[in-house]
Amino acid sequence: MSGNRVRLQAIRDVEAYVPPSASFTDTEAPGQIFGENVFNKVVMQKRLPKSVYKSVIATIEHGAKLDPLVGDAVASAMKDWALEKGATHYAHVFYPLTGLTAEKHDSFLEPVSDGSALAEFAGKTLTQGEPDASSFPNGGLRNTFEARGYTAWDPTSPAYVLENPNGNTLCIPTVFVSMTGEALDHKTPLLRSQQAMGEHAERILKLFGHTDPEHVVSFCGPEQEYFLVDRHFFLARPDLLNAGRTLFGSKPPKGQEFDDHYFGAIPERVLGFMMDTERELFKLGIPAKTRHNEVAPGQFEIAPMFEKANLAADHQQLLMTTFKTIAKKHGMECLFHEKPFAGVNGSGKHVNFSLGNSEVGSVFVPGDTPHENAQFLVFCAAVIRAVHLYAGLLRASVASATNDHRLGANEAPPAIISIFLGDQLADVFGQIAKGAATSSKGKGTMIIGVDTLPVLPTDPGDRNRTSPFAFTGNRFEFRAPGSMQSVAGPMTTINTIMADSLDYMATKLEQAVAAGDDFDKAVQLLLTEIITEHGDVVFNGDGYADAWPIEAEKRGLANLKTTLDALPELITEPAMALFEKYKVFNHREMHSRYEIGLEQYALTIGVEARITLEVGATSVLPAAVRYQTELATNVAALKAAGVEGDTDALAAVSGPIADLKAGLASLKAALAADVGHSALAEAEHARDALLPAMLAVRGAADTLEDLVADDLWPLPTYQEMLFML
Ligand code: ADP
Ligand code: MG
Repeated sequence: MSGNRVRLQAIRDVEAYVPPSASFTDTEAPGQIFGENVFNKVVMQKRLPKSVYKSVIATIEHGAKLDPLVGDAVASAMKDWALEKGATHYAHVFYPLTGLTAEKHDSFLEPVSDGSALAEFAGKTLTQGEPDASSFPNGGLRNTFEARGYTAWDPTSPAYVLENPNGNTLCIPTVFVSMTGEALDHKTPLLRSQQAMGEHAERILKLFGHTDPEHVVSFCGPEQEYFLVDRHFFLARPDLLNAGRTLFGSKPPKGQEFDDHYFGAIPERVLGFMMDTERELFKLGIPAKTRHNEVAPGQFEIAPMFEKANLAADHQQLLMTTFKTIAKKHGMECLFHEKPFAGVNGSGKHVNFSLGNSEVGSVFVPGDTPHENAQFLVFCAAVIRAVHLYAGLLRASVASATNDHRLGANEAPPAIISIFLGDQLADVFGQIAKGAATSSKGKGTMIIGVDTLPVLPTDPGDRNRTSPFAFTGNRFEFRAPGSMQSVAGPMTTINTIMADSLDYMATKLEQAVAAGDDFDKAVQLLLTEIITEHGDVVFNGDGYADAWPIEAEKRGLANLKTTLDALPELITEPAMALFEKYKVFNHREMHSRYEIGLEQYALTIGVEARITLEVGATSVLPAAVRYQTELATNVAALKAAGVEGDTDALAAVSGPIADLKAGLASLKAALAADVGHSALAEAEHARDALLPAMLAVRGAADTLEDLVADDLWPLPTYQEMLFML
């Protein structure tokens, strides 16, 4: 079938497609199925011996070290429960540095000598696994002679049964480390950073009179944006299929006036998909909450309710897998790429985060008393200091070839990391900056710890959609993470830089207390110091404005536009010292993350470049040449008949065809170039040679798309993919 017929058939198939109805019925209350497939506390309490249950809960709730003796008891109860749920296999689930989720499946059945088999699952099988780790990125941490990696059970993230038409699997969330204990995954550092942050946050709470504070943890509520396209179109686009984004495609005539889509009615078919995903998520104990259309056509969002960061990160990964699977069932493909369609709004994964415990709630909620408000301001100041000092690390935590199409490129949030506080809170800090000076005009000076402290904002007022880091009333929202990324990386960075700030502030305040200083005064002084030194990172204006990068530069804020600008932040001396100090990463681990960042960048762009070459040479160029031939034949035939043909049209396609050929030739040459084998050289080559050559090919191809007869065009168009759902 020629290219054009593939596309036309796809259109026909899409039109004829009857989507299945959702299996979520009105009679089935969400409450009934919530957590149905999770080995959660309720199940454990029922099935575990009391002492074992207590011990596991101590680990989950209070961060106590896991008692190695409980493994067998938990494994046995877990196995029985999973078998009752129809599981035939178990899998250690881990989160390698590809950003994907990996699973190693094993059967419960073990052969015994009489030729039969028994369902076996010992404590050591639960607590430790040994996947073939050689195919996961390690950035030099594992040489081949020590190629082993281990998975180890993370009891703080509950096991669950994943249903599949071909058999159910007991899934056990695990960390993934090298033989020498170095982290090869996203979970290990998140757990380590959590511990560091908690320790220093508790010191602050103690200073404010919470004598024996409960364990402080970070909470994360990720908002996931995604696109849905009909699978017929998806399968007819080799670029979407292999790279997750379109490498060709002229913008649709409907242009960018997509406002009607945002919060508009959800298409029926998409609603069916959403109901099915929610049903599955509920069963897995994932609290899916809001759903709505996003800015672009075909774009949607889901925001599960916030949970402890480690659990939220695991659930987020599971959510993406679930979405992919269920979209297929509804004849669609779910795209998590940050920029599947050039010129159309991209997708992010806003990371809402707060710190707290059940006693104080979120520390980012102002209280009713000046004393509580002083505590609130201390935690906010810690964020301001952390983001100002380590903006580069935050930027690096969201750096990827795919996210580069959003950050600092065609859309915001910009690559400049700043904080939005909202007018009221900014004003409060503005007053604090003036310190104890009473001569100030206007609103006057705020004194911490006295009754005159104004009522603090519970709502920051205006939402600022252009800020990468915004205070939103009871939490902060880091808006820069990409839709495809794990939230574990950004959360690890946030926890670590918060540990540093809280440590710094706690130390200062403890010293003041030890010296017998007035506590309120010490807080006041410290807040003034922090806002004076780090206030430059606060920006309440329009992050899209042309004036902002200029202003930001004056303030000394970095503008790390691309991944290759951002990644070196990981291996600066201060960054490595920071992560080492809080025992999140050692130097080797930091270097490995840097190397892997480069490798993944080069790999992503390399794949895109090869697809661009293939589609350009075997689909786009032949279509254009066919059309050119048609025109030429027509001109010749008309000339023979004594009529003048449309030589202008012929000339119009011939130019871009020549450009396309030239572009393909240079892309081919760039792909063949020998740039050596260092990760940095390959990444730089991808940025400096491959990306520009791909853009040149695309430019010519997109021009041709607007010229070539529609029935010859081989690729589903933006119009079709975005508007036919
Ligand atoms: P909005 O529309 O106001 O941005 P959403 O309903 O989209 O709010 O929720 C954004 C996300 O923020 C949700 O995942 C929500 O659970 C999360 N969230 C709310 N409060 C907190 C908090 N204290 N800490 C962390 N995340 C939170
Ligand atoms: Mg939101």
